Amino acid sequence: RAKTARSGFEVYDDTQHSSAWDRLATVEALRLALDRGRLTLAFQPIVDAHTRLPRSVEALVRWTDAERGFVPPDVFLPLAEHAGLMPQLTRTVLDLAFEEAAILRELGHDIAVSVNLSASDLLDGLLEQELLERLHEHALPVHAVKIEITESLLVDSHGRAGDFLLAVREEGFELLVDDFGTGYSSMAYLHDLPVSTLKIDRAFTSRLSTDPRTGVIVDSTIEMAHRLGLSVVAEGVETEAELAWLQEHHCDLIQGYLMSRPLPAADLHTWLAAQKPL
Ligand code: C2E
Ligand code: CA
Ligand code: CA
Ligand code: CA
Repeated sequence: RAKTARSGFEVYDDTQHSSAWDRLATVEALRLALDRGRLTLAFQPIVDAHTRLPRSVEALVRWTDAERGFVPPDVFLPLAEHAGLMPQLTRTVLDLAFEEAAILRELGHDIAVSVNLSASDLLDGLLEQELLERLHEHALPVHAVKIEITESLLVDSHGRAGDFLLAVREEGFELLVDDFGTGYSSMAYLHDLPVSTLKIDRAFTSRLSTDPRTGVIVDSTIEMAHRLGLSVVAEGVETEAELAWLQEHHCDLIQGYLMSRPLPAADLHTWLAAQKPL
C-alpha cells in the first residue's frame, strides 16, 4: 500500500516493500528450480461415479523449496505467469505428464493424464506441435492425454487462443472445462466450444449437503451437460454424502479427497494396484 507523505511524494511502507522483495526472490528461486528440474507432479485420480474405478488422473504441479518449504501452485503460478516463466513451466509439466502417461500404459492401466493449461499457454504458437511431438515420442494414443482449461479462459478465448483450442480438439485431444460455474454463469457458449467434459468446481460440491439451492444448480448443470453430450466431473468430493448425492443425480465422474489426495507417481501406482471392480 502506498502512503502519501506530507511532501506529496508517494513512499512505500515497509510491508509493501518487503513483500515486493519477497515476490522477486520467490520468482528467482522458482526460475532456479525450473532450470534444475526440481518441479514435480502429483497425480489425483478421477474415478467413475458408480463403479469407483479410476478413469484418469489430473497432473498437479508441485514445488518444494529448500528455504520456503512447500509452495502452493495458487501462490507460485501467478508469479510464474507474471514473470514470463509459464512457457518453461508448462513444458516441464508436459514432459513429466507424458512420461507418466506412458508409464501408466506400461503398467497396464488404460487411464488418461489430464494437464492444466494457463492463459499464456493458449497464445503459445508452438504448443500444439509440441503436444503432438510428445505423443509420438512416447508412442501414445491421443486419448492418453487431456487438457483442462478454466471456464473464464474458455469464454475469453477469441482469436489465437480460440484457434489453438480448435486445433488441439481437431487433433483429437479432449478438452475439459475446469472450475465450471465460478466464472461466467452463461451456459450458452458451451455448444460453440469444442469441449467434452465439465468439471464442477469444488465450491459447489462442498455446499451440496448443506444448501438445497446449490443442489438445484448442480442438478441442472448435470442435466444440461448431458443434453449437450458432455460428461461431468465433480471436483473436491470429500464425503460419502456428497458422493451419494452425485450418484443419485447422474454425475459421471468423481475427483476428491474421498477417493484420493493428489499422489506422487510411486504412490499412485500403489493406489491403482489396489483398486478392484466392486
Ligand atoms: P484445479 O485445476 O482446480 O485443481 C484442483 C485443486 O483442488 C488441486 O489443488 C487439488 O489438490 C485440490 N483438491 C482436489 N480434491 C480436493 C478435495 O477433496 N478437497 C480440497 N479441499 N481440495 C481438493 P492444487 O494442487 O493446490 O492446485 C491448485 C490450482 O493450481 C489448480 O486448480 C490449477 O488451477 C492450478 N494448477 C495446478 N497444477 C498446474 C499446472 O501444472 N499448470 C497450470 N497451468 N495450473 C496448474
Ligand atoms: Ca484442473
Ligand atoms: Ca478445478
Ligand atoms: Ca480450482
